[in-house]
Amino acid sequence: MMGALLGVAVGSAAAATSDPAGPALLLAQVEKFQLTDHARVAAALKQLHEEERQLTPAQRWHLRYLDAYQASLDGSFDRAAPLLRDVIDHSGDAALATRATAKLITNLAINHHYEEAFKLANTLMVDLPGVTDSAAHAQALRAIVQMLGLAGESDQALKYAQQLDPERASPENRCGNYSYKFNAMITLSSNDPGLLRAIAVCLADKQAVFANTLRLTRADFLKEEGHPDQAIALLKSIEPSILRSGFQPHIADLHVSLAQSYAKLGNDADARRAALAAVAASDPGSFTWPLQVAYELLYEIGKRAGNDHLALSYYEKYVVQYKAGMDDAKTRALAYQMVKQNVLSKKMKLDALGKQNRILELRQALASQAQETSHLLIALLLAMLAFIMSAMFWLRRSQLRFRQMARHDGLTGAFNRGYFFDEAGRVVRRLHRTGAEVCLVVLDMDHFKRVNDTHGHPAGDEVLRHTVTICRSELRESDVFGRLGGEEFGILMPACSRDQGIEVASRIRRQLIENPLILDAQNTIAVSASFGLACSDISGHQLHQLFGDADAALYRAKEGGRNQLVATTDADASVTARTGIPVVSAM
Ligand code: GH3
Ligand code: MG
Ligand code: MG
Repeated sequence: MMGALLGVAVGSAAAATSDPAGPALLLAQVEKFQLTDHARVAAALKQLHEEERQLTPAQRWHLRYLDAYQASLDGSFDRAAPLLRDVIDHSGDAALATRATAKLITNLAINHHYEEAFKLANTLMVDLPGVTDSAAHAQALRAIVQMLGLAGESDQALKYAQQLDPERASPENRCGNYSYKFNAMITLSSNDPGLLRAIAVCLADKQAVFANTLRLTRADFLKEEGHPDQAIALLKSIEPSILRSGFQPHIADLHVSLAQSYAKLGNDADARRAALAAVAASDPGSFTWPLQVAYELLYEIGKRAGNDHLALSYYEKYVVQYKAGMDDAKTRALAYQMVKQNVLSKKMKLDALGKQNRILELRQALASQAQETSHLLIALLLAMLAFIMSAMFWLRRSQLRFRQMARHDGLTGAFNRGYFFDEAGRVVRRLHRTGAEVCLVVLDMDHFKRVNDTHGHPAGDEVLRHTVTICRSELRESDVFGRLGGEEFGILMPACSRDQGIEVASRIRRQLIENPLILDAQNTIAVSASFGLACSDISGHQLHQLFGDADAALYRAKEGGRNQLVATTDADASVTARTGIPVVSAM
């Protein structure tokens, strides 16, 4: 198979004139093997880029979309996003733009940018009837089903899922359609004939990733139906295929499902091993369902084994995951409500405009006819307009409330992580165009666990609010400030030089140690934080670079003994600004 592909590639490279079938064939190959043969797809993409000059403009847009798709599969969402947006805005190809929108929605949702994801899903829902290309139609439907599922609208999700017609789809799409359809159907049983058929079709079509999604779903059903032994047998049988696919979410899911099944059988030793494997297969900084379940299991197993110390440490990790999961669900629900309300409000505005026009028309008619009845009509329409206007006013109020809740962290009122990164990204992109400097500070409270342990969790919460107040007092209106998680905060300072950034961060650091939190007459809590700072002069105008550098600097500040500020000075060497030890001239 690989030979055949390379044959095409070599053939077209050797030909003196370009072979128009070459690129078309390669593009089709990428489409076909996108989810099943990574090596083959990578080779075809490479070949296409080498021959990029021979591609027609339409083929170039197609290639751009496929690049974005591949980048998404590799988890390089930052690389995929601008490519997708470019295809959506500039390709002029409606089908391709729809597919790019669907992909962008999925990527946004994976990265918890729900507001934009729901907004785009809504436009897809409106445009869907006009989408004639069958691949684009199926892809749009899948994105809509996924987003409605995330919004908790399972009935609506199912309604759209039913429109996915696996039996009539092309072989590349057939199995994917099955997979989305059955994921939307939450009331199945493990032996549902449709589910079993879908698995068989996906296997026959060699769509391993989707086949595994469906089989993991089936294992879940088996477990829930009281057959953990059968679930284990199924999971063990698909383990090689999952490991071979390298699809990380499946790997973590596999281990955690195994762990749950073993635990149900009372086999704590194997359950523990599988739960640890799930942890090892996950990004420790991420908040995912498998991590949450794995920590919960490890806690329960530790407790049963009488290992209280270990159990407690897992319990803490579980709580952090649980809380993040709840926050995420809340953010999701609010983002969905916001978009829904926005749509409603647009419709009302249109209604109101229509009414206003009608009144104008009637007034004109009245000038010539002066009819009593028209007066009455106008009065009626005015009353209706007033009603719509007041409804719009209340809608606007509740929209503002929803927006406040979706963007802000409930405990401290600072921007939440998702919105901080959205907003910071926007600001950095804008500054990139103008060339203005920007600094990013990441700060993390020192020994915060001790604060909780000594004074209790509510006091810890109070310290977080106190910290936010102090930070705010030193920041400008234009600075972007958010809680990145737990006891970690981010500050993006636009139009700010390195020296100014160091000065502001140092002031906050000093304010924190000079203003302990006074709980009551007997109790004060001393607080300090460590700071990492990165600026565009060295890190450039890319948020992920700024953040990576600031985070690395923060790590060094912790290592250096905490309660200090470390600023990156060049790509690898650092440490200029240790405010605990005055080294920096700007201090
Ligand atoms: P270090 O100086 O190395 O940063 O030590 P640390 O104890 O601050 O670091 P670590 O990240 O291990 O602990 C953070 C703690 O913050 C653990 C968690 O219980 C606590 N925490 C996270 N979110 C909240 C919250 O919303 N309220 C309270 N009270 N505590 C929280
Ligand atoms: Mg800390
Ligand atoms: Mg921390």
